Amino acid sequence: MSSKVDPADFKTYHGGCHCGAFKFAIRIPELKDIMACNCSICIKNGILGNIWFLDNGPEEFIVEKGDIDSLKKYSFDRMNAVYRFCGVCGTNVFVTNPGEIGINGRVLGDIDVEALPKRHYDGWGKWTPYAPQFGERIEWKKPEGKADEEAEDDLVTYYGNCHCGKIRYALRSKNIDDLEVMQCNCSMCGKNSHRHIYPTRTAMQVHDPEGAGSKYNFLSKDSAQTFCSNCGTFVFVDIEDESVDLRPMNVRTIDNIDIYKLKYIMYDGRSMPPLYTGERHKLD
Ligand SMILES: [Zn+2]
Ligand SMILES: [Zn+2]
Ligand SMILES: [Zn+2]
Repeated sequence: MSSKVDPADFKTYHGGCHCGAFKFAIRIPELKDIMACNCSICIKNGILGNIWFLDNGPEEFIVEKGDIDSLKKYSFDRMNAVYRFCGVCGTNVFVTNPGEIGINGRVLGDIDVEALPKRHYDGWGKWTPYAPQFGERIEWKKPEGKADEEAEDDLVTYYGNCHCGKIRYALRSKNIDDLEVMQCNCSMCGKNSHRHIYPTRTAMQVHDPEGAGSKYNFLSKDSAQTFCSNCGTFVFVDIEDESVDLRPMNVRTIDNIDIYKLKYIMYDGRSMPPLYTGERHKLD
């Protein structure tokens, strides 16, 4: 980020993870646009930005609640970047490189970064090939008593995983290009840019042999956002009531699709109660 703006004219933006355990402020030149990167981790983890500045520059990063050391760390074979996310709620908060920090714009509470003009950055082209560090592709298994999920010839088998590969899945679905994908702007979906489709439990077959999936309930105890505790990618929603044959999943994690070319339906979850106050709604 350029520092030609007089620091006296810097703006203060506040941000934090969804559960409210970690809150911070930054003082930076006013955000007039935002970098939109298509690299593997920005796509899978729903990061918008990052908003970069130097540790020893005039910009400031101020922790207001919680402890940086309590955030989880994830790195992969990409320079020395260390991604930091909340182990409770999975929100990807920032990334560090030696001497600099990059803030995920989506975690800022007092500006809607989605509405800013985007500076597109081809991180995918620059950082390929992406390969997850762990696990192997799993094959889709025909479920007993549900021959239709195998037989319909307009179905496609997709594969996907969290960024590190510890959580894998095989998904039998209509062509994703023909589906309407739900894009919600509620506090949780907004911070993480979840984009959901709603396959059955047998269509979306998850393989997590190490139990890497962490669960975060934010509106009810009955359904949990499930993210990888190693890399911070949200993969699917776990609905406790097994009679509900749905396993909503985040299309960001599907291999070899272009999420920018899908058809979205927008849902204004942000306007629905309970309104988000910067912390997790108390569950009863
Ligand atoms: Zn949190
Ligand atoms: Zn990126
Ligand atoms: Zn992972």
